[in-house]
Amino acid sequence: MTNLPKALRDRLQAEYGLRTLELVRKQGARDTTQKFLWRLADQSLIESVLIPANPALYGEASDRHTLCVSTQVGCAYGCKFCASGLEGLKRNLGVEEIVEQVLAVERWNESEKDPAAAGAVAAIGSGERRLITNIVIMGMGEPLANYDNLLKALRILNAPWGGGIGARKITISTSGLAPQIRKLADDPLQFRLAISLHGATDETRNKIMPVNRKYPLGELISACEYYQRHKGRMITFEYILIAGVNDDLREAQPLALLARRLNAKVNLIPYNHVEGLPWERPPEEKLEAFLAALEKEGTNTTLRREKGHDVDAACGQLRLRTERQLAGSAPHSGALS
Ligand code: SF4
Repeated sequence: MTNLPKALRDRLQAEYGLRTLELVRKQGARDTTQKFLWRLADQSLIESVLIPANPALYGEASDRHTLCVSTQVGCAYGCKFCASGLEGLKRNLGVEEIVEQVLAVERWNESEKDPAAAGAVAAIGSGERRLITNIVIMGMGEPLANYDNLLKALRILNAPWGGGIGARKITISTSGLAPQIRKLADDPLQFRLAISLHGATDETRNKIMPVNRKYPLGELISACEYYQRHKGRMITFEYILIAGVNDDLREAQPLALLARRLNAKVNLIPYNHVEGLPWERPPEEKLEAFLAALEKEGTNTTLRREKGHDVDAACGQLRLRTERQLAGSAPHSGALS
């Protein structure tokens, strides 16, 4: 743009970038959950998952589309069952890399409807109806470990001049960083909070989530109470059921007690096997028995019929598999087709 002064062009070049996410792979399950693997400018890989509303769950077809967004490349927290933490943390995502996951999926959707629109730029703040109506920050990484970039990105996605996605339609999920939960409670925006609990006693949580040694349950639950006092919003406990680890019916009672204390909802998620890890999903009867035990205690509980079951569903698996293929395959071998 030679009509701009050279000094300005030099400054723009030195200080700004015009980049987008490059789609490396996409997988779709039969029930139309779509998993996207993106390449960033530094060649790192991240995932986002698009989950359309399921008529079987909501009764009728709905325009609701939820995007599960990543906040880090890899993760430092090393939960024992998780593919994202297997190779540690590479780096935090920048604000633009978080926002761009929403725009890139919307661009992909436009290009599916009309291939001529493949190069079109999904607008933010254009006032047009978005494809993505809900966001869950549950992808790769511990969101609250990238607190500042996450909050800046969510303000952009929430602002009327930006994405226009209501704060109550945005859920942040954490493995339990108690101090950051308190910080989030002091933020004026009304985001929803989900806790990746996966164990209702320190004994069980310590076995599978190293973060519990730093912020044991007592500290975590007291931070959740602080959040609730400030926000007055219901918290969700995510509980991945893993065979022989946390699916014993004796675990249901302490879980029900915690849920009652916080008036929290419990979302039970059957484990999705991760290649190279020994954990397995409990049998169907065990899942149902665990659900029934919680319901008997009066806990507001759902058992998720995992929608990504067909698509390397556990978070981080598609990236891990692709990175391993890339490391082990000659260039242009077609391994990623
Ligand atoms: S479950 Fe979340 S916090 Fe734990 S290792 Fe995986 S991405 Fe990190």
